[in-house]
Amino acid sequence: MKIGFIGLGNMGMPMAINLAKAGHEVIGFDKVAAPEAPLRAASSAAEAATGADVVITMLPNGGILQSVAAEIIPAMKAGAVFCDCSTVDVESARAVATDANAAGLGALDAPVSGGITGAAGGTLTFMVGGGAEAFATVEPLFEIMGQKAVHCGESGAGQAAKICNNMILGVTMIATCEAFALADKLGLDRQKMFDVVSTSSGYSWSMNAYCPAPGIGPKSPADNGYKPGFAADLMLKDLRLAQQAAEGADADTPMGELAMQLYDRFVGSEDGAGQDFSAMLPRFEKRGRS
Ligand code: NAD
Repeated sequence: MKIGFIGLGNMGMPMAINLAKAGHEVIGFDKVAAPEAPLRAASSAAEAATGADVVITMLPNGGILQSVAAEIIPAMKAGAVFCDCSTVDVESARAVATDANAAGLGALDAPVSGGITGAAGGTLTFMVGGGAEAFATVEPLFEIMGQKAVHCGESGAGQAAKICNNMILGVTMIATCEAFALADKLGLDRQKMFDVVSTSSGYSWSMNAYCPAPGIGPKSPADNGYKPGFAADLMLKDLRLAQQAAEGADADTPMGELAMQLYDRFVGSEDGAGQDFSAMLPRFEKRGRS
């Protein structure tokens, strides 16, 4: 296929390279980064989109997605598919899909989980909203960039799945970290805490697969000085998107809201910026109740 790829940052560049290595013709554009070989370079987003069967975007937020969409939709050929893999607000995803559909294009919102390791290794998970035909067109590309693609429903359903998942992740990571800090203060050995919780009803991905305590459980950013991994700043972004969506849908999400407030403080006025989101554990370690 001929693929336009717009947004070649930490995630987009390795995803685009995997598609090119698999034999597709990939024409990349980024406002800042120069496309790496074997990608071909375009001098604008519109040029990357012209004549492409599929255009993939991997951009920072919904505002930027909407401005790029306004530029590329008129340049795309009829019947092509616009597939956005960024994490953005549900409204932006739906607005872009509506405009793309009105122009005779297929449209998918297909945010990912798996981070930069998943992007480089081609092991991402895609959560996809949009029409069945568009999904069928892009599915072979999801198989190259990832290990799993779930078609979640109509436009916006991919973003909905992503923010609900990450709201659970933010909440469980905080709960896991505060429980470790409490266990420390109660004199409970961390390894024993892990041995019990990871096989009891308190288990979760945060405890079992991404344990925030250094030297405990499988290797995680805690074993690497809390270098991300999944940065606290990105977790904050996703928790904000979840609250924005909850407000729009009149959903009561008190734990998600508190998690957002804690990550907001952690990143904004404590030392969380640039750290992995599991660095909440050293944060709790240093604190008392007041
Ligand atoms: P990034 O900041 O490294 O990359 C974004 C790229 O978009 C940058 O290279 C930037 O120059 C480019 N860009 C910005 N405006 C542009 C424009 N108008 N035209 C063309 N290019 C433009 O971010 P990232 O880590 O690659 O993340 C991309 C998306 O993936 C985000 O929505 C993020 O939330 C999501 N995501 C990231 C991770 C992760 O671990 N990094 C995991 C899951 C999802």
